[in-house]
Amino acid sequence: MFPKPSDGFGWVQVAGGHALVCEALAVPHLFTTRSWALGSASEADRPAAWDLVGRSLGSDAGSLCRAHQVHGASVIVRRMSEPPCGSQPLEQADIIISDDPSRVLAIQTADCVPLLVADRRTGVVAAAHAGWKGMAAGVPRKTIEALACEFGSRPSDLVVVAGPSVGACCYEVGVEVRDAFAQGGFTEALLPHWFFAAPQPTAGNPSMPGLPAQRRADHWFFDGWSATRHQLEEAGIPASQIHSAALCTASHPEIWCSYRRGGKTAGRMAAAIRAASPRPSPCSRDGRRAR
Ligand SMILES: [Zn+2]
Repeated sequence: MFPKPSDGFGWVQVAGGHALVCEALAVPHLFTTRSWALGSASEADRPAAWDLVGRSLGSDAGSLCRAHQVHGASVIVRRMSEPPCGSQPLEQADIIISDDPSRVLAIQTADCVPLLVADRRTGVVAAAHAGWKGMAAGVPRKTIEALACEFGSRPSDLVVVAGPSVGACCYEVGVEVRDAFAQGGFTEALLPHWFFAAPQPTAGNPSMPGLPAQRRADHWFFDGWSATRHQLEEAGIPASQIHSAALCTASHPEIWCSYRRGGKTAGRMAAAIRAASPRPSPCSRDGRRAR
């Protein structure tokens, strides 16, 4: 029933339901499925549905940090010294970063690319939401830059994991999407790598019903997975430290929520992550450097 994951991903079952995880992240995290309370459109805005996400990663409700997502590229920084996220109204942003292991960072998607990032050296983490607007606005690159600016992360230490999202098997887009990338500084030479004249199904991701076999005038089939990877590599992330579920939300409506497929009846999925506890000091208790 569940599509076979690859690239280090695997299925787990926790209190909220089934979820995907990727072992490369090495910090607590998960990508939820439609089986969670959030996966029902009527439940997706209820606090109890989100509390379950926080609890599944070992934090209480007040420790869940979310954003009012607006398909932009603004960043929220949540440091250890700040008040609990649950006590604050949601700010407009699509990227959340933190060094605090007592908080769970979470974004919601229903076709857009959910990105989770962990710094293997310092333990700081990020959760980001990138639909085509966010991608054209540089969300993957800006997430890496924010971790560098705020917490001193080096791209060579970061692991980036992209969860399930709509693929080029199903995602027909209009000329405004291609134009947004051109205006976002992506060259005409790059665009043919991400915009295709026909759907790009695979054995694991069949095209959803009703798609035209060839693109209509001023339409393309968009590969957001490759566009995301390109930005991450340009930002200095080694290719071997970028992992993609490569599973399409619209191809598997029984597993994931897809706005493209379900419209307003689609629920939501969460991508959530918690920072690692600070590394032990290399100094011994009496202050001398450990041998
Ligand atoms: Zn698909």
